Amino acid sequence: MGDSLHINSGGIAQHTFDAIVIGSGISGGWAAKELCEKGLKTLVLERGKDVVHLKDYPTATKDPWQFAHRGSMPAKVLEENPVVARCYAFGEATDHFFVKDTEHPYVQEKPFDWIRGYQVGGKSLLWARQTQRWSKYDFEGPARDGFATDWPIRYEDLAPWYSHVERFAGISGNFDKVETLPDGEFLPAWEMNCVEKDIQQKIMSAYKDRYVVQGRCAHLTKPGKIHIDQGRNQCQARSLCERGCPFGGYFSSNASTLPWAAKTGNLTLRPNSVVHSIIYDDKKGKASGVRVIDSVTKQATEYFAKIIFVNAACLNSNLILLNSTSSRFPNGFGNDNGLLGKYIAFHNYRGTVSASYDGPLDKYYYGRRPTQPMMPNFRNVHKQETDFLRGYMVFYGAGRGGGYAEGIGAAAKDAMTELGGWFVSVMMQGETIPKETNHVRLSSDKKDAWGISQLITSVDYDDNDVKSMNDFLNVSSEMFANAGCKDIKTHDSKQAPGLDIHEMGGVRMGKDPKTSMLNKWNQFHHCENVFVTDGACMTSTSTQNPSLTFMALTARAANYAVEELKKNNL
Ligand SMILES: Cc1cc2nc3c(=O)[nH]c(=O)nc-3n(C[C@H](O)[C@H](O)[C@H](O)COP(=O)(O)OP(=O)(O)OC[C@H]3O[C@@H](n4cnc5c(N)ncnc54)[C@H](O)[C@@H]3O)c2cc1C
Repeated sequence: MGDSLHINSGGIAQHTFDAIVIGSGISGGWAAKELCEKGLKTLVLERGKDVVHLKDYPTATKDPWQFAHRGSMPAKVLEENPVVARCYAFGEATDHFFVKDTEHPYVQEKPFDWIRGYQVGGKSLLWARQTQRWSKYDFEGPARDGFATDWPIRYEDLAPWYSHVERFAGISGNFDKVETLPDGEFLPAWEMNCVEKDIQQKIMSAYKDRYVVQGRCAHLTKPGKIHIDQGRNQCQARSLCERGCPFGGYFSSNASTLPWAAKTGNLTLRPNSVVHSIIYDDKKGKASGVRVIDSVTKQATEYFAKIIFVNAACLNSNLILLNSTSSRFPNGFGNDNGLLGKYIAFHNYRGTVSASYDGPLDKYYYGRRPTQPMMPNFRNVHKQETDFLRGYMVFYGAGRGGGYAEGIGAAAKDAMTELGGWFVSVMMQGETIPKETNHVRLSSDKKDAWGISQLITSVDYDDNDVKSMNDFLNVSSEMFANAGCKDIKTHDSKQAPGLDIHEMGGVRMGKDPKTSMLNKWNQFHHCENVFVTDGACMTSTSTQNPSLTFMALTARAANYAVEELKKNNL
């Protein structure tokens, strides 16, 4: 940090904690909960504003006509913020939880839509809550197929921690007994509609290796005592989740882990605290704390702790670590092998297929549903069988159109009350292969409002992604045709990486310090009192949504850290 900044270290004692957690989103909330429950005085540093459950959800109970633009963002805002404008969840009811492009610039060496939520709770307020476990095939993949580096853990290492977080968060789902999609600790599942069931049955009888199941999601369909104790209640299926839920019906840090951590009396939460870097103590040979800039007063401060959890979300964790230089680590924290910021990967969402279906016109569905059916990956599961590596999972859904008519007057109004026919659609979520060339680094000349170097994103698709997408488009068209669907249309959105909002890597786990940054407990190989447990730590991406895995890794690492502290090993 430059000499021109006046650092206020307070009284060292007042600024010293047992643990520091950087970031209060999905993974940081879990670190806070576990560390506080185990008795550690824990400081959570969050760059954004405070968002208190219930109090700070200003749009949660508004009706469409109570918004100045009926929920749509004015064209000027969309034009000025093209990146966040591309996120489906960004709108008048939710914009206060999204980072605007204009407020927090970064440098896109290659197009990358970086979607962020800077506030207490991070993106846990905004996520779509899909929570599938990864399977053994996902953790074995890199070693078997010879890409990336081998995971230092296997499914069995994480399974008890998946259970641990599922019980507390509340995950709805069926026991599907599919080996590519392990079952968990489930609350009752949401139901499929009649056409979804019909096509499910047709696909599953035509293809023995393909399963259509209801998507597991972090919603309280039948709250247990542990959820009621958190102050949460049953999901009302309003599907207005991204505004913040007044029922605590879905899992967010704000409704769940943070208040739970606060109840222990061990939590200090400091919003408006932009972590600048981690402080490395040469004499002790470990990290001693973090440098923080208050986002309101711009004053620089230091905080100290025995252990540090880095949970600022994948790319911001990379940024903080790249910015954490010292005489021991001149190229970024723990970066002896030069791999920090490299092997960034994401999910390929480019392909969609839609069709019509002659479903029963006397049947409909009632209410809203916060999830949808899905198909776990069936490509290259047991052996390499295509000309591309890995595969994709498929989101699937069926519904009825209608409700729109041209013109004005009574006839148009009447026509609008009529339902249209059935349609079906699928969307891919493809695994991408981590590559050294897909990386982030710091700009040498562009700074943010706090004098911190801006991040440069250099991340792109490759031929493997295009082949995988084409396979998805062909396979899905064939499945729909076999199921009796018509008017089948395929589409490549060509969307930039990042819009999947599943960025991973840059600080990957591995067995060998020469080829990875973190060990099997998410500790830096070269500095064991610093843990990275958000998306930055991921060795590969699987085809499943990642946040449940971030939570399980975080809970596992936090419990390990506490045990090691007790043994004076950190
Ligand atoms: C619309 C949408 C839909 C999604 N759907 C799904 C889904 O269905 N399933 C799924 O698994 N995932 C989904 N995701 C992704 C999911 O939200 C993220 O994977 C998850 O939130 C990551 O958790 P995290 O703790 O790493 O980061 P976050 O939840 O983003 O939290 C990071 C926190 O760190 C703070 N921070 C950043 N930099 C600093 C700094 N320098 N100093 C201090 N604090 C800092 C941020 O302000 C933020 O509060 C979705 C995301 C969005 C936006």
